[in-house]
Amino acid sequence: MIQRCPARSLQPTEQNVASQPLDIAQAQALVAGHCRLLPAELTPVDGALGLVLSEQVIASYDVPSSANSAMDGFAARAGDAGRTLKLIGESRAGQPAAISVGEGEAVRISTGAVMPDGANAVAPIEVAEDHGDTVTLLEELTGGRNVRLAGEDLRAGDAVLGPGRELGPAELGIAVAAGRAELQCVRRARVAVIATGDELRDPGADLAPGELHNSNLTTIGALVRAAGADVVLTSHVGDDPAATERCFSEALDQADVIVCSGGVSVGPHDHVKGAFMELGVEERFWRVALRPGRPTWFGSRDGQLVFGLPGNPVSAMVTFLLFVAPALRAIQGRSPQQTASSTLGESIPRHPDRDECVRVRIDDGEAFATGPQGSHILSSMSLADALAVIPRGEGSLAAGSAIELLSLQP
Ligand code: AMP
Ligand code: MG
Repeated sequence: MIQRCPARSLQPTEQNVASQPLDIAQAQALVAGHCRLLPAELTPVDGALGLVLSEQVIASYDVPSSANSAMDGFAARAGDAGRTLKLIGESRAGQPAAISVGEGEAVRISTGAVMPDGANAVAPIEVAEDHGDTVTLLEELTGGRNVRLAGEDLRAGDAVLGPGRELGPAELGIAVAAGRAELQCVRRARVAVIATGDELRDPGADLAPGELHNSNLTTIGALVRAAGADVVLTSHVGDDPAATERCFSEALDQADVIVCSGGVSVGPHDHVKGAFMELGVEERFWRVALRPGRPTWFGSRDGQLVFGLPGNPVSAMVTFLLFVAPALRAIQGRSPQQTASSTLGESIPRHPDRDECVRVRIDDGEAFATGPQGSHILSSMSLADALAVIPRGEGSLAAGSAIELLSLQP
C-alpha cells in the first residue's frame, strides 16, 4: 500500500525549473546543506574498517604489557664478550620463565617473551654458541640491548584515538592493542539503489532488439560500497508511474539515501521526479550545467537524501562521484575527498555553456582524454585514472593548461 502524501505542487522549492541549470559547485552546496551526520553505534572492530570514530579510545593497559625480548636469543646480565653462561630455563611467548637470572646465568628467550627477573639484555642466537647446558656469548652485551620496555608503544590511560578519526587497518589494530573489541562509530549509510527503464535486462540475460543490460545497478551499487555504505535495497523498475512510486515508497521506508538512475529527463516516460514528489520528497534542484549529467535531480525528505541520476552509464557514474559521494562522506562523518590538479597533455574542446567532466588517463603527470567521451561510452570510464573538469567556454582548453582532477574513488 503506497503512503500518499497530500497533493503538493510539483514545483521545486529551491530552484525554479525554468531558471538556468546550477553550476556544479552550487549543486554540491545544496546537497551539503541537506546532509546530517548519521547516529553512532557500537561496532565490532572487525566491522569498523573505513568508519569514523565517535568516541575517545583510552589505552586500558601498557603496550607492551611487560618488558620483553626483541630477538630470539639468550637473556642475561650485561657484560663482556666471551662469557660462558649456565642455561637455567626458558622464557617463551606467553609462558614467562618463573626464575631469576643471576651473574653467570642465562635463559633461552623467544621474540616477544617476557624478560626474566635479573636479566637486562638479550644476546641474539646469531652471536652465541649454544652448548646445550651453557651458552658462550660472542659479543659484548650492553644493558638494554634487544629489550623492549613495557609501555613503549602505549601507556595505560593514554588517549589513543579521538572522535572524527577515520579507521584504517592501523587504527583498528591499535584499538585492539589498547584493549577494545568494539568501537563507537558513525554507522554506515543505508542506501537503496534503483534503476528505471523498460529496456533494461538483468546481467547475463539474452537481449531482444532495443534492450540493454542493466549496468548502472552494478556500477552504482559498487560505488556505494566503495564509499563505505551499505546497499540495503537493489531494485529495477519499469517506466510506469505507479510501479515507480511503489518501488520508491519501499526504498524510502528503509534507506537514508536513495540513488536512482534514469527517468529524470523531460520525456513522456520519465516518472522519477513526479513519483518522489508524490511521496513527499522535496525537489532541491534539477539540472546542472554539466556534461555529462545535465538532468541530475536531487531532493530530500526529513533528512533522507534522494538522487535521481541520469540513465546513461557514464552520466550516472560522474554524477554519483560529484554529488552522491560527497554526501555519503559527509553523513558518515568522513572528511571531503581531496581534489588534485594536473596539466592537460593535449588541447580539449570546451562546451560553450556546460562544465565538462572528461575522463582522463594520467601519463607522466599530464592528462589525456580516454578516447570518445559520449555519455554511453563506459569504456571511457574504465580506461580513466581521474575526471578532469574542463570549464565551459569558447574554443578549446590548450595543452599545458592547469586542470582540477576528481578522484574516481568515492
Ligand atoms: P534515461 O536517463 O532513462 O533517459 O536513459 C538514458 C540512456 O541511458 C538510455 O539509452 C538508457 O537505455 C540508458 N540507461 C538507462 N538506465 C540504464 C542502466 N541502468 N544501465 C545501463 N544503461 C541505462
Ligand atoms: Mg529511461
